[in-house]
Amino acid sequence: MHVAGISYFKVIITTDLFQNAKAQLEEAYKHFPASKETKAVLENPQKVIQASIPVRMDDGSLKVFQGYRVHYNTTRGPAKGGIRFHPDVNLEEVKALALWMTFKCAAVDIPLGGGKGGVIVDPRKLTTRELERLSRAYIDELFDFIGPDKDIPAPDVYTNEKVMAWMVDEYNKIVRHQHYGTITGKPVSRGGSLGRNKATALGAYYVLKKACETQGINPGNARVAVQGFGNAGYHLAKMLYDDGFNIVAVSDSRTAVKGDHINPDEVMEIKAACHNKSMECVFEDGYVKDNTKYQKITNDELLELDVDILIPAALEKVITEDNAEKIKAKMVVEVANGPTTIEADKVLEKKNVFVLPDILANSGGVTVSYFEWVQNRQGYYWEEEEVYKRLKKIIEAAFDKIYHVSKEKKINMRTAAYVVALERLSAAIDSHGTEEYFKN
Ligand code: GLU
Repeated sequence: MHVAGISYFKVIITTDLFQNAKAQLEEAYKHFPASKETKAVLENPQKVIQASIPVRMDDGSLKVFQGYRVHYNTTRGPAKGGIRFHPDVNLEEVKALALWMTFKCAAVDIPLGGGKGGVIVDPRKLTTRELERLSRAYIDELFDFIGPDKDIPAPDVYTNEKVMAWMVDEYNKIVRHQHYGTITGKPVSRGGSLGRNKATALGAYYVLKKACETQGINPGNARVAVQGFGNAGYHLAKMLYDDGFNIVAVSDSRTAVKGDHINPDEVMEIKAACHNKSMECVFEDGYVKDNTKYQKITNDELLELDVDILIPAALEKVITEDNAEKIKAKMVVEVANGPTTIEADKVLEKKNVFVLPDILANSGGVTVSYFEWVQNRQGYYWEEEEVYKRLKKIIEAAFDKIYHVSKEKKINMRTAAYVVALERLSAAIDSHGTEEYFKN
């Protein structure tokens, strides 16, 4: 009885992420007259695949991992989106993430559709050789689903350029061609783009600066808390620190650290040297000269700090109806995908919190993935400055357009971003003809 109760509860919480994404889209439908056709097409993912992925472990045993790939919509171009390795991955989450990718690519107007993949695994518990076998096996099982004109994966939570290098290598072995453009986020030495590594953070930095101007926030005295210290969280914290923002808290999955003018590089060095690769060593003797300057808090407390800018850069659903009322930040910059639930959104709106939505704030990553794909197809590689210049142009134009729509229609930035994306998606979908067109 109890066990049944628990698994039922699990079903409820795993399904609602996709429902949450759909509810965001529903908000946009109130402000954009999408056709029946567009609504019907966007109701569900175009394709979903679940794979059982066998991997030989180092101890000789065979483990079968569950993996997914979802193409949400490919009307505007091949599916595009990362692959996540995480113990909590589930199909509903991958569907939500694929929907967000679809709207993200459309919001910044890059010619790609939306997809996403994931494997239920804690990669920290695998050896490097097991991780390589799993990465290659994922491609072996999903091979028919992906390709440079079909679906182009990239890194996401707990996958990185090394994983992408194995994956593209596996793909190329199967096709017996060098198709670098089938995966992005690769090492520069294997067809990656300069600047891809910092791209998510840099995109967020560009739009955050624009948002500061509109909200009257002055970098010189703005207090910032960053939840999550992965690629995006760390690089963004560093960019903001270098720009004079006051970083007052940072965190990883194990702990959060509070302080004043925290230098992200110092914390990163301690984390890298730490016995469990965690920030926890900030509070241990021997790692830092003066550890009284850091105070241990929880990840939940970090979210509720009295700051100007709060940056959730870890996982989804961290700002919910349970804590939204307690958020004190003037601005929330969603570097993670889906950190705010639809209920929390309403509370934040009422409190006048300016939310830079994920599909805009973290779109720098996929934008430079697009550049990588373009460079792979051309066989001609750009200088780092060129990448940054083009990223800035695309993301700032997206900010301006979305901000304008939000003012014009008196809607929040999330709904405005959806409206802008929806306008483009519906133009593409309706170009196949609508009921009115065929009736005449
Ligand atoms: N995983 C990243 C995202 O959620 C990047 C996707 C990509 O580069 O395709 O936007």
